[in-house]
Amino acid sequence: MDGLWQERDLPFGSNSVQHGTAVFEGIRMYTTPAGPVLFRLDAHLERLLDSAALLGIPHAYDLAALRRHVRDAAAGSGLDNAYVRPVLYTREPRLGVNLRDFHFTLGTEIWALPPDDTPSRPVRVTVSPWRRPSQLTFPVRAKATGTYVVSALARTRAAADGFDDAIQLDPNSGRVAESTIANVFLVRDGRLVTPWLEDSVLAGITRDTVLTLAGDLGIETAEAPVQPGELLAADEVFLTGTASGLVSVAGLDTHTYAAGRPVTDALSRAYREAVLGDGPHRPSWLTPVSRP
Ligand code: PMP
Repeated sequence: MDGLWQERDLPFGSNSVQHGTAVFEGIRMYTTPAGPVLFRLDAHLERLLDSAALLGIPHAYDLAALRRHVRDAAAGSGLDNAYVRPVLYTREPRLGVNLRDFHFTLGTEIWALPPDDTPSRPVRVTVSPWRRPSQLTFPVRAKATGTYVVSALARTRAAADGFDDAIQLDPNSGRVAESTIANVFLVRDGRLVTPWLEDSVLAGITRDTVLTLAGDLGIETAEAPVQPGELLAADEVFLTGTASGLVSVAGLDTHTYAAGRPVTDALSRAYREAVLGDGPHRPSWLTPVSRP
């Protein structure tokens, strides 16, 4: 799918192209009866500011400026069901690896999504031989363009082996970290568990949303160290991310999970209600996109 790329003249020599020096966010815009909304806009923009700070990226934006830019881009797109990606990047066609030498600016790419956003089909995953980046090598809480080479490597290998996605382990502990573009949850005896942030895990905003919704539903939750074997022993496994919400895992390597997934189903329903503003009232989660 083509995006509405606003920066068609980005110099090929740009440091962001040449070295992957950029930080970004992925935000969902949903159609609601009250008009289009951006889901958890401020949480995403705060993470963007954190990503820039963690890498020492110099820029001139505060939260209000980011909010204005993204709302304007979303409104200007004329779309309502879409994936919105603000990127802090540099246009400067220079090599070098000191980020303080570059001027970073904000651009937002927007992809239209089909109007009837049907839930993603269950996926089959494998445990990747490629582990996540080490916290000793990179501040893994930063959502940076360059690190997606690690995801691409693992996903390409998984696809070649006939799987939809890969679970990647923490490089130091060998515990479950996340999938290539999503966080991982497991359900065992009605209890919901997701890998703790001590391992190499992005602090996913969908992860946080699901933990909150599970609390609403009275489901016991834990952020804890997760051994690979615990995924096999789980009753249900699912992935979470902004782009596709909750995605049920049908099988892991040679193991197939039982078909009934009551906790995943209940949380998927609650998630859908939350993004459409049908759930418990949380005004800060939905930012209206007013048309120009
Ligand atoms: N982990 C990785 C590596 C990701 O790329 C993503 C997608 N941003 C996630 C987890 C999920 O994060 P979020 O729920 O904030 O989209």
